[in-house]
Amino acid sequence: MQTQLLPVSPDSLARAGEMIRAGQLVGFPTETVYGLGANALNEVAVKRIFEAKGRPGDNPLIVHISAVEQLLPLISVEPSPAARALMDACWPGPMTLIFPKSDVGPSAVTAGLDTVAVRLPAHPAARALIEAARRPIAAPSANRSGRPSPTTAAHVLEDMDGRIPLILDGGPCEVGLESTVIDITAETPRVLRPGGVTPEMIEAICGSAGVDPAVMRPLREGEVARSPGMKYRHYAPAGALTIVEGADEAVAQTIRRLYDEALTAGKRPLILALSGHMAAYGPRRALSLGADAAGMAHEIFARLRDADALGADALFAEAVPADGVGLAVMNRLGRAAAFHIIKAE
Ligand code: AMP
Ligand code: MG
Repeated sequence: MQTQLLPVSPDSLARAGEMIRAGQLVGFPTETVYGLGANALNEVAVKRIFEAKGRPGDNPLIVHISAVEQLLPLISVEPSPAARALMDACWPGPMTLIFPKSDVGPSAVTAGLDTVAVRLPAHPAARALIEAARRPIAAPSANRSGRPSPTTAAHVLEDMDGRIPLILDGGPCEVGLESTVIDITAETPRVLRPGGVTPEMIEAICGSAGVDPAVMRPLREGEVARSPGMKYRHYAPAGALTIVEGADEAVAQTIRRLYDEALTAGKRPLILALSGHMAAYGPRRALSLGADAAGMAHEIFARLRDADALGADALFAEAVPADGVGLAVMNRLGRAAAFHIIKAE
């Protein structure tokens, strides 16, 4: 299959909408990461997503809508007051809500669960594509399973060349991390996957917010993942990644030592550091993760791809405080490192 890469335009959007209606897959930009979209109401189309990504069939997809009215047919109970408040405050935007599902749509989308994940994205091209398709679009991130999520059209091409017919190029994604996934089927909203909408924001909107404990540690043996995606090792670079946390100077010192030891052992080490700390590593090979947690959200997936391209086999990354968007950054970095997080001495 030939994969076409087209800039977002009225023509390319109309063409992409037609392809979605015809059961084809389209890579498209959203404000979080690039999505791999299919007609959410067509089982054959949805199954193509799992094939193209190599995604396990028990990991459900997010259904994307372009207006709140499109939500009601997908769910089986009226949204709760907390759900309404979150939708009013954060939609359109980087927030996915888990609702009890209706009978609409094939079970492949929800991987057989009795709940459905729904998001109203803010990116104008994502919304225009849903409008052009005239149906909800099921879309996971447009990477091959296990690879970092794509934040540019070039990343999508890297992973999907020859596997899908069309990628819409809308430039780099604004947030850079996948949406916040919130379970609102119980009374207290609970974050299953942190993202741009933070627990602090949810608490301000709803009065309370919980965070699933599996967000910052690996699942325990026998523990059931509340969000099936949590049980898979994601965003894994080819090299072993170690995260170092602590005071700035101690972190720099520990990372310098670990890097030098790895080099002596014949490895190809690489440092991932905040831009303001790059000078602390002197001539060592280091990539900048941006200025702060928000910058890191934007840069992290692209830098993990760069690390692979450079053939790095021992990676050392600086931690950021796990509050605000820092929780989402540390969740993604932590999973990339299989939660190998050490304290600077
Ligand atoms: P992706 O679209 O690749 O970012 O993955 C979607 C994420 O949403 C995965 O982590 C899924 O496990 C999660 N998800 C989708 N549907 C549900 C659901 N019904 N309940 C819990 N988590 C879900
Ligand atoms: Mg994904």
